[in-house]
Amino acid sequence: MMPEPLAVGCLDALRRTSISLAGTERRVTLDPPRCADVAGLVVDPPRRPGRERALLRGELVQTVDLDGAPIWAEHADLIIDDPVALPAVIAARERLYAFLVEQGRAFAVCPSCAADVELDLAFYAVALRLAPWQVTDGPFLAVPRLALPEPPAPPMLCPNEERPAVVRKIAPRPPSPLRAERIDFVLPSVRAGLTGTDDAVAGSLGDIEPAVEAAAWRRWAPPGQDQPDERMYWAPTRAGFRAMLRISVALTSLRDARSRPIAPTPESVEQLLFADLQFLDVLYTATHDLPVELPADGREPSGTVHCPSGHPFLPVR
Ligand SMILES: [Zn+2]
Repeated sequence: MMPEPLAVGCLDALRRTSISLAGTERRVTLDPPRCADVAGLVVDPPRRPGRERALLRGELVQTVDLDGAPIWAEHADLIIDDPVALPAVIAARERLYAFLVEQGRAFAVCPSCAADVELDLAFYAVALRLAPWQVTDGPFLAVPRLALPEPPAPPMLCPNEERPAVVRKIAPRPPSPLRAERIDFVLPSVRAGLTGTDDAVAGSLGDIEPAVEAAAWRRWAPPGQDQPDERMYWAPTRAGFRAMLRISVALTSLRDARSRPIAPTPESVEQLLFADLQFLDVLYTATHDLPVELPADGREPSGTVHCPSGHPFLPVR
């Protein structure tokens, strides 16, 4: 169930562009960052005012090379202040993320015989009306859907009280055909040739149970305790971390290229490319949040797939 890596040339073309900066032509190379590099910069829109430049600068420093060398804050500021260079970099970055997310693949496992059916996100868009997914929000990285909602804040007088976990329902399903036994996936990064031997490449996506999510909050962001410096953003008020934590809860398995298991935790999710997290976020919506309707005329519901042995099933949870 491992699809072929893509032609590297396709990705290379998307990674490279050139901009004119202070009168000089500069070569830009975009490096898709890991969650560890940028998830702390993914902030709810109401929390962005006053921090726009810092957020954008931080992300450009993590993502942009100029003439083959990483950039520093002052280079990022040159780009941010250039009315022509900034839109060019922002647009190139959006194309790159959009392309990467589309490279992820789902493998819906037949409930009758355990054979799998390979699907891309476009399948869910056509068959189950998955809405277009947003990778960026203006110049910023979009807040992943699983970051929402934010767990309700504790009462003013008990700031260290645990926040209640959100109950997530699965969209309505008809009684037949059966649903997938399992939703496996291959991450975009491996298909784009961006993973090393120890990196996660594939796994299985399950559900987010409120009790498991609550336990994850207690373990990884305990109320009333300070986080170490490198984990300052591991908090319920930070959209990037909420998405990482909930993805880690939704993953039932994760493995590297040699099929060695990797425990799904915020620590291992933090090592994924941010585009991998975006793919898993969209795949969760595709397999949990879209209603499947039973047509009145007795036809199979839209979205029904057939395994190689011909068993019909729905590639959703
Ligand atoms: Zn089958």
